Amino acid sequence: MSFHNYEPVIGLEIHAQLKTKSKIFCSDSTNFDASDNENISPVSAGMPGTLPVLNLEALNYSIKIGLALNCTIDMSSVFSRKNYFYPDLPKGYQISQYDKPICHSGYIEFLSEDKIKKINISRAHMEEDAGKSTHLGDVTLINLNRAGIPLLEIVTAPEIESAKQAADYARAIRQLLRYLDVCDGNLEEGSLRCDCNISVRKKGEKKLGTRVEIKNINSFRFVEKALDYEIQRQIDCIERAEKLVQETRLWDPDKNRTFTMRTKEDAQDYRYFPDPDLPKVKVSAKMLEQIRKELPELPIKKVLRFQSDYKLSDYDSNLICQDLDFANYFEDVAKTSNNPRASANWIISELMRELNNHNLDIKRSHVSAKALAELIQLVDQGKISGKIAKSVFVDMWSSKKTAKEIVEEKQLSQITDPSALEKVIQEILDKNQDSVQQFKNGKIKLLGFFVGLAMKATKGQASPEIVNDILNKKLNE
Ligand code: ADP
Ligand code: MG
Repeated sequence: MSFHNYEPVIGLEIHAQLKTKSKIFCSDSTNFDASDNENISPVSAGMPGTLPVLNLEALNYSIKIGLALNCTIDMSSVFSRKNYFYPDLPKGYQISQYDKPICHSGYIEFLSEDKIKKINISRAHMEEDAGKSTHLGDVTLINLNRAGIPLLEIVTAPEIESAKQAADYARAIRQLLRYLDVCDGNLEEGSLRCDCNISVRKKGEKKLGTRVEIKNINSFRFVEKALDYEIQRQIDCIERAEKLVQETRLWDPDKNRTFTMRTKEDAQDYRYFPDPDLPKVKVSAKMLEQIRKELPELPIKKVLRFQSDYKLSDYDSNLICQDLDFANYFEDVAKTSNNPRASANWIISELMRELNNHNLDIKRSHVSAKALAELIQLVDQGKISGKIAKSVFVDMWSSKKTAKEIVEEKQLSQITDPSALEKVIQEILDKNQDSVQQFKNGKIKLLGFFVGLAMKATKGQASPEIVNDILNKKLNE
């Protein structure tokens, strides 16, 4: 998209729901499938006199994310009260971090439009989720299962340059969180929520324009669409010399547009102050070291390493590294088969097809990494042809037998015995004397025709190389 002499400036606030078993300040379960208001207790229901106690796992996960985002981890951060009234917030305030967040001053690197892009993370702070209100006509239903679920809010600097880049950034954050195994990253279920801040300014201008925040976008595609829509709306507004108002808008996926939710005039003063019920969050150097040791290889590193170690294309490497289990599976197959190129091809075409058809993730693949490597080796050793290997793979998937078992049972081994193949080829040549004559008269393209007949006669089992050798010899006699 081109916006003439304007440029967009975008900053994202991503709320990641941490995958802990219990809530951030009490032992209520976080199970998503529970029935309404099943996961509550006096603490999450905001009863007077109850005391919050920080969940150590939520703290560990937050630090893990902060380290993976190259943040400074504050050794002494503070929980504050963010005061506002809403029926799904029984305490009358949300416990969040304000001026002293646990993580700040980091960055993430990811691939966007074939280049490595670096986006600065200004802060990442812990907070509790609120409950959920469901409005039905005159009635509003409150479900507090979500109240007190631990969140980490990851906030970028205002420096993302396009709608596409914003969506790529959000995807990279989700991928990272999944690598760390600290968040499901499911936008539809709300375990990852994305608020987009966007302003436009004349190119070359240093000062930021008036920003709009778009809330509750539940897919990466909508992140891009909503931002593109909003960029154009803001430019049109400025071009018409109208005043842009700082406001919160929502994305309407049916109408493909954003609309006003609330303007700055209704914005509240939250009267933040340190929560007297919670001590400062102390992090020790030892804790940091321990968590740092547990960090896996991060996605961008892995993508680049697979390119250099296994000579994968950018595209293939990116695709295979989307998911850590997938990347591990690939690496197992590549190492065992000693053929990374073929491993990538098999995984991206045959395996992904079967997984998609059966709606399975890689952990539940019917063909193990070891089994796929064995199939690749059979091809590389010339025991079966590539074409037959594909049918063997389909068989492996449905029967869960190994490639060797299937090849043996169905007698699919490649025919490499020259005398057996000579006999077959001689019969073909005898039956096709016309074509042999045409070949000898210079129509050498007919070689392919003879090869095809030989493959057909042997149900695809003849070694194409040996067939070619014999044909060349016989036809040029
Ligand atoms: P608030 O305290 O209102 O949440 P922040 O300063 O924390 O505001 O910024 C929230 C998000 O908005 C950040 O991701 C930031 O990069 C982004 N942002 C702030 N100002 C602008 C602007 N003028 N244009 C685009 N994004 C902005
Ligand atoms: Mg904010």
